[in-house]
Amino acid sequence: MGKPSGFMEFPRKPVPYRDAEQRLTDFKEIFTPPDQGALKRQSARCMDCGVPFCQSDEGCPIDNLIPEWNDLIYQGRWKDALDRLHRTNNFPEFTGRTCPAPCEGACVLGITDPPVTIKNIENAIIDRGFEEGWVSHKSPAKRSGRKVAVVGSGPAGLTAADQLNKAGHQVTVYEREDRIGGLLMYGIPNMKLDKGVVDRRVNLMREAGIEFVTGADIGGNTDAKQLLSEHDALLLATGSTRPRDLPVPGRELKGVHFAMEFLTENTRSLLNSNLEDGKYISAKDKHVIVIGGGDTGTDCIGTSLRHGCKSMLNLELLPAPPVERASDNPWPLWPRIYRTDYGHEEAAARFGADPRRYATVTKRFIDDGNGNVKGIETVQVEWHHRDGRMKMQEIAGTEQTWEADLVFLAMGFLGPETYLSESLGVELDESTNYQAEHGAFVTNIPGVFVAGDCRRGQSLVVWGINEGRGAARAVDEFLCGVSELPAPGITLGAATG
Ligand SMILES: Cc1cc2nc3c(=O)[nH]c(=O)nc-3n(C[C@H](O)[C@H](O)[C@H](O)COP(=O)(O)OP(=O)(O)OC[C@H]3O[C@@H](n4cnc5c(N)ncnc54)[C@H](O)[C@@H]3O)c2cc1C
Ligand code: SF4
Repeated sequence: MGKPSGFMEFPRKPVPYRDAEQRLTDFKEIFTPPDQGALKRQSARCMDCGVPFCQSDEGCPIDNLIPEWNDLIYQGRWKDALDRLHRTNNFPEFTGRTCPAPCEGACVLGITDPPVTIKNIENAIIDRGFEEGWVSHKSPAKRSGRKVAVVGSGPAGLTAADQLNKAGHQVTVYEREDRIGGLLMYGIPNMKLDKGVVDRRVNLMREAGIEFVTGADIGGNTDAKQLLSEHDALLLATGSTRPRDLPVPGRELKGVHFAMEFLTENTRSLLNSNLEDGKYISAKDKHVIVIGGGDTGTDCIGTSLRHGCKSMLNLELLPAPPVERASDNPWPLWPRIYRTDYGHEEAAARFGADPRRYATVTKRFIDDGNGNVKGIETVQVEWHHRDGRMKMQEIAGTEQTWEADLVFLAMGFLGPETYLSESLGVELDESTNYQAEHGAFVTNIPGVFVAGDCRRGQSLVVWGINEGRGAARAVDEFLCGVSELPAPGITLGAATG
């Protein structure tokens, strides 16, 4: 432990975001550079708990060695801290920026005080590592002669590729998009994760011998069975890409879009032309309604505000969560509490109020007479516990209409698209995800493995890394009989660095 009395002396002080008004003028990252003296004080708040819940099952899904690197930062041993971080996490620069930090939700200090700023410290360690030139990927000393194809280049696919390459296998990552990164590239917007940060890591992986093929739609323009026959193992990490729809009257109107149509093309145009090619849905001077909360909804809010939308409303079906943990949501569980994310803060800065409206159901989209959406009709609902389930009931007299030129549907995802699983004969589970147990990651087709959101359903970057590490170990075992690759929850081996 850095300083035994640290948690009593220093209050929690997260690294601030840039000023909301100012950051709305660009798509640059929202974060400010951390002050390293302040980070040292924050690391001193860590109590080096006998049972560090931050890295338990309820905390970090990849078992990050949090108390160890907190202590190393207090001692000023940044390079050693980086080494500890990379033992469990292939891409701390992705989680350090985007993770909701279940580790902080489970931090023991959080029982009585605000938790340690674990995520800020993680991000500062990896950013300094890159600045100092300490981050490298080495080609393996020996190649196994086995070939593995990874389909999908999100965090799960990239992690698995990195691990399998370290184990000596020849790995090729196939991606149907024109850039590598999955939702790290074309989902999470630039202000939350700069795309140069994604490219920087991919380039290092390329230098270490991993091949990347873009524009390869496996099961579409590229034959899946042939790909399997040309490799010793196939890992599908294709994400959860089927969006949940809202089939109410008027859904076909122009101006009603799935969130990903908006976010993907915005980032593509931003990267290709700094939004000058006009190949994106512009929210400029539009009344925008985002239906659905979560990260996707927040990212639609932040993107629309940066375009210069005229108004912003965010509708959520569920009631507002409590400000503090409810009695059925005790520590160390993930706190289901009211949070203000970057997009909500920015909407309040631009329009003077939080854009969120809870317990609201959309009844229909309203036509302007020319096939364009001009508004939506909603009704308020009450939620009741009945027969062990939450049930909603409309409240008579609460019908309302709202002006809208653009509506974004951000209501979650229903699993992977099925054309690839159909072409290979891979079975689905009852949630229409690819069927495979966590830990085994193998499907009903010998040699075909699955990992990430396509197996577990829509989730988090850190879970993608968890699954990528686990699946890499399973593939390595399949190819070699034994594996020294670590997987979360399994003792760290030599091939971790
Ligand atoms: C808008 C948005 C914001 C998010 N924000 C956060 C956040 O802030 N923090 C967080 O932790 N999580 C966030 N998430 C969730 C997180 O991004 C995902 O859980 C994670 O990216 C899943 O990783 P994955 O590797 O399983 O799949 P993905 O990242 O979805 O990658 C799958 C890739 O497979 C490719 N693919 C699919 N089918 C084929 C095929 N047949 N052939 C070739 N390629 C194919 C796709 O094009 C895609 O590139 C967000 C999600 C969204 C949608
Ligand atoms: S639970 Fe919190 S205080 Fe305890 S070791 Fe982890 S980060 Fe430090």
